[in-house]
Amino acid sequence: MKHLFDKIDELPQWLEQNGQPKFRAAQIHRWVAVSRANQFEEMTNLPKALREKLADDFQLWTTEVVRHQTSPDGTEKLLLQLADGGRIECVLLRDGDRRSICVSSQVGCAMGCVFCASGLDGVLRNLTGGEIIEQMMRLQRLLPEEERLSHIVMMGMGEPLANLKNVLQALDEATSPDSLGISPRRITISTVGIPEAIRKLAEMDSRYNLAISLHAPTDQLRTQIVPTNKNVGIDRLLSAADEYFETSGRKLTFEYVMLAGINDQPQHARQLARLLANKTAILNVIPYNKVDGLEYETPSKAAITRFKSILEKEGIVIMFRQKKGDEINAACGQLRRSTAQTTHQSSTPLVDINTSTNPQS
Ligand code: SAH
Repeated sequence: MKHLFDKIDELPQWLEQNGQPKFRAAQIHRWVAVSRANQFEEMTNLPKALREKLADDFQLWTTEVVRHQTSPDGTEKLLLQLADGGRIECVLLRDGDRRSICVSSQVGCAMGCVFCASGLDGVLRNLTGGEIIEQMMRLQRLLPEEERLSHIVMMGMGEPLANLKNVLQALDEATSPDSLGISPRRITISTVGIPEAIRKLAEMDSRYNLAISLHAPTDQLRTQIVPTNKNVGIDRLLSAADEYFETSGRKLTFEYVMLAGINDQPQHARQLARLLANKTAILNVIPYNKVDGLEYETPSKAAITRFKSILEKEGIVIMFRQKKGDEINAACGQLRRSTAQTTHQSSTPLVDINTSTNPQS
């Protein structure tokens, strides 16, 4: 059986073969994404025989919710098990009116950024478009009926630009007016920074905001933190980013995870200010979310304030990401590891929700 969302391009043709008008495709999208149907059976404006045939040929859900955690700040996280046993994470964040989701693109990650939990065991495989869409649909179903998803960040496990085709297929669904209908301006793809892939993205679809994980102001330090920088270099990366910005006109963000004693010193702030001077980009500084088993530490409040004030004085547009969902290991890759290693016990309270109410799992 096939995942409906992996075959969504073929649905109109499938409908035709089954003697059905093409408009049924839009009806099916709306049933899943707007009415939140969890089974074909619920799609009551489709003929009964069609519903049965759909159920024979397609699966709506191929993942299983292994864990569902909530945090007091409204953040919820799902650990999903894929049909082949692989595990991925996705997160719902609530912030004022915003209902943002953070979605994974691969099982694990090959980039090997030294502080990140997702890459510790390498990459197993790319997620299919259907598996990426399924994360969106599962997270949407955590919201009350009157609420809609407003923002998507491709900042979960994996490197989205290493799985570009499937990521774009999933984002097509997210932006389709017959489906989740989320504006591309509210969607951000986060990348470790692969210049060729950034150019490819600009060619294929430049409707989305781009976030680049910079993490260091010099090549020497960046290569130490982000090993893929060795063959890239900050200059080439920034040129590709400039090009994307020019082509797309979308928001460009540089992410900077502050690691105590490593890239959080005043000299780093000054170097960073020089590097980003005259760029129309936002700098998103994220205090490190500690990963069990890794020696990296979150900088002190004083170090963060000092870093921030140097950059602001230099006129850099800077944003501090709140550490939402700390209690539930909301930096992706952490929950997966904590459940794989039974010896791990989180130091902060986790609230697990009974997963038995999840759709068809
Ligand atoms: N591979 C992509 C997207 C996934 S990571 C990328 O590198 O951008 C999304 C963001 O979260 C990246 O900026 C990443 O560096 C950051 N991140 C990963 N682990 C983190 C942690 N433990 N604490 C804070 N930020 C982290």
